[in-house]
Amino acid sequence: MPQSPFNLQVQNTQVEGRIVIALERIAQAFRVLLWSEGKAHALSPVQVQILIFLLYQPVERRTVSLLADAFNLTKATLSDSVKVLEKKRLVKRLPKQDLRSHTLELTTKGRELAMQSAVFTQEIQNPINKLSQAEKESMLLGLLDIIYHLNQQGIISIQRMCYSCMHYKANFKGHPHYCRLLNQQLRQADIRIDCPEYSSVFSA
Ligand code: SF4
Repeated sequence: MPQSPFNLQVQNTQVEGRIVIALERIAQAFRVLLWSEGKAHALSPVQVQILIFLLYQPVERRTVSLLADAFNLTKATLSDSVKVLEKKRLVKRLPKQDLRSHTLELTTKGRELAMQSAVFTQEIQNPINKLSQAEKESMLLGLLDIIYHLNQQGIISIQRMCYSCMHYKANFKGHPHYCRLLNQQLRQADIRIDCPEYSSVFSA
């Protein structure tokens, strides 16, 4: 049976356990910051996340299904949040060409609010800004490994990262990381976590 990182004896003798607890504290900070951002606008945390998603993601990804997938929620839960945002006139539905489905679009008011809220993570980023480039790259690689593992275990559904992309190749043409679509090496700092060119289907 694995040892719990919450056991202080384990935690204080193993760096791995302390890293897990540190990630838990950061997850807590995300929740607190997101909650306080929502409270300032009378929105729930997920409603704030929906507005930010709609602000930056391309039109073809602005659907209830993809949003539900991105936030690991059911379509029904996501739809309820979208209905509230529609009532508040922050989001509107636009029918797709086939008229059987629709995409979501921010209203002018929704866009303004989304832009304000999109920097709710600033206090998490401030100490990261102070790290050296090597420390940032090492942190990024470690976090990407954890995210990829969680994705492979079916715990989170995030998909658009290099490690799960069909264009990605490790140790290729003498480079540790390579993108066959861009046909170039990826430096550690270039490895993407949400890439618009991501593909789960090999097309080369
Ligand atoms: S297409 Fe994007 S996600 Fe895929 S390997 Fe290239 S940079 Fe990474």
